[in-house]
Amino acid sequence: MHESCGVFGIYAPGVDVARITFFGLYALQHRGQESAGIATADGRKIYLHTSMGLVSQGFNEDELAQLHGHIAIGHTRYSTTGSSRACNAQPILVQADSTTIALAHNGNIVNAKFLREELCQQGYSFAATSDSEIIANLVISSTERNKIDKIRYAMRRLQGAYSLVILTKDKLIGVRDPMGVRPLCLGTIDGGWVIASESCALGHVGAQFIREIEPGEIVVISKNGVKSFTEESPRKALCIFEYIYFARPDSVIQGKLLYPVRQAMGRILSQEYPVDADLVMGVPDSATAAGIGYAVASGIPYCEGLIKNRYVGRTFIEPDQRLRDLGVKLKFNPLAETITGKRLIVVDDSIVRGTTTPKVVAMLRKAGAKEVHLRICSPPIRHPCFFGVDMATRWELIAAQKTIPEIKDAIGADSLGYISLDGLIESVGLPKEIFCLACFTGDYPIPVQLEMDKLALEAIPSGSLSELGGS
Ligand code: SF4
Repeated sequence: MHESCGVFGIYAPGVDVARITFFGLYALQHRGQESAGIATADGRKIYLHTSMGLVSQGFNEDELAQLHGHIAIGHTRYSTTGSSRACNAQPILVQADSTTIALAHNGNIVNAKFLREELCQQGYSFAATSDSEIIANLVISSTERNKIDKIRYAMRRLQGAYSLVILTKDKLIGVRDPMGVRPLCLGTIDGGWVIASESCALGHVGAQFIREIEPGEIVVISKNGVKSFTEESPRKALCIFEYIYFARPDSVIQGKLLYPVRQAMGRILSQEYPVDADLVMGVPDSATAAGIGYAVASGIPYCEGLIKNRYVGRTFIEPDQRLRDLGVKLKFNPLAETITGKRLIVVDDSIVRGTTTPKVVAMLRKAGAKEVHLRICSPPIRHPCFFGVDMATRWELIAAQKTIPEIKDAIGADSLGYISLDGLIESVGLPKEIFCLACFTGDYPIPVQLEMDKLALEAIPSGSLSELGGS
């Protein structure tokens, strides 16, 4: 499962903002590895460099030196809407009349197709296929006179998830959608200001966390300081998968450091699904903390049974079918000496399609594990995500097609336990009402459910409708 993007912005006169943004993106690399880009502004002009691949591959000294100015935004991309092509790399630059903006986006716009058609009819052209360009064109298409009202106009028209950093010639602007699906936070650095998808990026560049940007909030940073404007937020819907999987364990979201939250998921799993076993392990890296939490609570020793090759990104695995088939083997290597003859409890973050988990179970058995008991930090995923998570269509989701005992058999585990929804909420320690839980419950936080169901059904290949009960 992949999330869509990481965004970073900085306003800091006298600071090498392009380089700071480069390192900010480095800290957000886990949110997207397909492309990276930085745009800067010096009060007169906007400069832009984008590249396919990892942040480290995208910039050399010469390219960073060409990014002048005291304001910057940056982006790491995983494509959910729009294909993996150079034209979809962000930030994107759009221009109309006297207005030029660069924009970087994390999220997904549900009514993008409608808005794109509308903008095309008005004469706006599109160089890319991502919905981020729709947001940027919507902002500049507004007839409102000032930038804040232009952004407010776009926010009224957009349905979906968007955490944005926007660069003008002399301002840095952060925007979070009224539901607050994706995180966005504000920090300070050397008398300037930083905006980032996750607080972990602030620590890495020497910035201090100040606060989260609230759902529906527009933050404008200029030579006049920081100004905040707020749009109404009828329902909050922070993606709970930020806590389970997407965000780094050293990030803080809604005042909660993720590492202990993930440990609590393991603790609660040990209470909900106890089993006699010799060792507990977490599938690295996202389930490591939960595995430790399970081990501490159950009194069963923790071990590292799988070693992850951290330098094999999806970029290098997926373009080639033969390498794609190797998949899990390229990513993990089992520690046979540790696990041979042992009854293992294996904690993982989620099961989506159910294609990777059987390979992990088979790998552990081949390495000598006597029993493999799987414990999962999310409830069964039965509904697709429309807010920027590249999950699957409904017919591909294993929990939408099979019962839990059937899933256990399909993945070849000796037992299988998913954390309960209440257990998940308890581990995060925040009110249930602030979260999007739609992929578990089907209760989407915006009133386009029928449209979404229709889209999901349209994605079912012919012949498989019967698997869904013929609907
Ligand atoms: S549907 Fe699931 S993955 Fe998508 S935003 Fe909601 S909680 Fe997150």
